[in-house]
Formats: sequence, structure tokens, C-alpha cells
Amino acid sequence: MKVAKKIYIAVLLIVVVMITFTACQNKRENGTQPKDATTFLMGTVVQMRVYGSNAQEIIDNSFARLREIENEMSTNIVSSEISRINTHPGEDIKVNADTYRVIKKAVEYANLTNGKFNPAIGPLVKLWGIGTENARVPAEDEIKEALKLVNYQWIDLDDEQMTVMLEKQGMSLDLGAIAKGYAADEVRRIVKDSRVVSAYVNLGGNVLVIGEKPDGTPWKVGIQDPRHNRGNVMASIDVRDKTLVTSGNYERYFEMDGVIYHHILDPDTGYPADSGLLSCTIITTDSFDADALSTSIFILGPAKGLELLEEIDGVEAMLITKDLGIILSSGIEGEVDILNDDFQLNGM
Ligand code: AMP
Ligand code: MG
Repeated sequence: MKVAKKIYIAVLLIVVVMITFTACQNKRENGTQPKDATTFLMGTVVQMRVYGSNAQEIIDNSFARLREIENEMSTNIVSSEISRINTHPGEDIKVNADTYRVIKKAVEYANLTNGKFNPAIGPLVKLWGIGTENARVPAEDEIKEALKLVNYQWIDLDDEQMTVMLEKQGMSLDLGAIAKGYAADEVRRIVKDSRVVSAYVNLGGNVLVIGEKPDGTPWKVGIQDPRHNRGNVMASIDVRDKTLVTSGNYERYFEMDGVIYHHILDPDTGYPADSGLLSCTIITTDSFDADALSTSIFILGPAKGLELLEEIDGVEAMLITKDLGIILSSGIEGEVDILNDDFQLNGM
């Protein structure tokens, strides 16, 4: 009788396990077909992968939101709020909550980095023209003139009125180093509000993953080999619910006489930042901060960059130095798979 009871319980357990397994499988299969979409927005290629029956709607809403943010913050759109601020120095320009938040955060990072991260970088960005057909190495005195206008302390903000004013004629804001991070967080909000539990977003190097893959494994995010163009991965990191934002010298650049002139400019020298890093990847939960930090640390370099990192909780970094060394912050040691032997793991 005892044996029969045991057999009965065992059979019952097997049945329960099988029913649960089938139910899980059905659930997974239902949501397993992802929807993939690619478009060009905010000056970069945007890719999304969303799992779920309402995936197309989420992608449409996300792309619409990105377009909205681009229309507010692009320096290339004459009707944008940023263009309005830039063309009306000396005037308090009322902006909407998106634009105000991004400018406010950019100024915070300017303060944190002693102006290395500098949203007033506009005149210098324009002078170099990197990423445009007008890219060139400017003359020394042109750089000096432009630098006179690169001063974030001349950006006046009024929190009550949500107005922004540039104090000097010729100044201009450029939010290229931070707007995509804000936008990625907005996409995450749209995805999460729709109760989707699994999605991937790549906004030209600003990667954000929501949840894990439907099969229960983490997302594997590739780290770009900074010596090559897009698509060459030299390492990968397994993540769930995280953002990985990279600033690198390979994103936008031109080459002249064997020298690479890239798009991240050092406001102290007026030239592309040369801090010993080829790229800086920030791994954390919010893309907004990650974007500002990746640019900041890229300019500050490994020593000062890691010092800044220590002041902020919950943020990890992977830095690649010019001699192909990899520096990892303590929280991601052992989490990174290095796929190319040219790169050597260095201590902090
Ligand atoms: P990211 O790819 O996020 O590192 O941002 C690079 C972009 O930020 C450039 O293409 C410029 O539009 C802008 N930028 C360049 N230098 C700086 C700087 N020192 N501070 C803030 N933004 C910058
Ligand atoms: Mg950035």
C-alpha cells in the first residue's frame, strides 16, 4: 500500500510538472516571435526588438517619441527648441519639460566635470564639422575664438519658468552627448507601460535591454572593437534590465595625415579629447546618466574618470585604453567575455 501511494504521488508529480512545462512552453511560444525594426532618427541608426503581441504598436510609439525628442533638441532642425535658444542669445526662451530636463542635467554634469562635459560646446562642434561634409582641421586662432564662447556658466536656467538664456552672442548649445540617453529612457518607459517584459533598443551605441530574453537567459550585448567600424565586437556582457552606453573615437571621425580627428572635443584644448582612451562603456540602469557619464569619462581619461565613477552609486564601466588594455570597475569583473586576444585585461 505504501509503495502504491509513493507511485501515485510520483505519477501525480510528473503530470503536474508536465502540465506546468507545457503551459510555460505555450506562454513562451506565444510571445517568442519578436518584432524587429530599424530606422534613422536623432542622427543615428535606431534598432528595436520587442517581444509580445502588441510589439508593432510599441515600436511605432517609441519611434514617434524619438522623433518628437529630435524635433525638440536637434541643432540641425531650425524649428527645434535648441535652435531657438541658440539664435536668441540674451533672451529667456521658454522650453518644454523634455528640453529643460536635458539642459539641466547637462549643466549638472558640466559642474561635476569642471566643464569637460560641456553643453555649450556648440561653436567648437560647428567649427570642426566632424561627421559632416565640412569636416576639417581648423586653424589655431579659429579654435581660440570658438573656445571663448564655450562656457557653460553663461547658460542661465530658471526652474520656475522653465526658461533658458545664453548670455553671449555666438554661444550655442549642443546636446549630442546626452539627448540619446534621455530618449532611450523614454523608450523604456513606453515599453514598460505596455507591460512588455522583454525588449532590446539600440540608439546608435546607447543600448538598453528590458528584462531578459524570453528563454530566460540574459541579453548578450557586444562591445564594439574601437579600432573598427560598427559591427566588430571585441567583448560581450550578459545583462538583464540594464543600459550600456559607449562613447568612442570611432563613432564619428575623419582621418588626415594618419591622425584620427574624432567628435568628442576637449573644451580645454579645443581639439578632439586625447585622454588615453579609445572607448568608454557605462553599464547601469538609467541611460540618461550613462550617456552623460560615458562622454565625461571618455574626456577625463582613466584616472579621473574612475574617480568620478566612484562618486556615483550603481554605475559600472569598461574602459579601453590606447594600448588595447581593458579596465573594468569592480562590479563587472568576471561578467565580461573578452573575445579578441589583442585586448588585455588590466587592473584598476
Ligand atoms: P557621445 O557620443 O554621447 O559621447 O557624444 C558625442 C557628441 O557630443 C558629439 O558628437 C558632440 O555633438 C557632443 N560633444 C562633443 N564634445 C563634447 C563635450 N566636451 N561635452 C559635451 N558634448 C560634447
Ligand atoms: Mg554621451
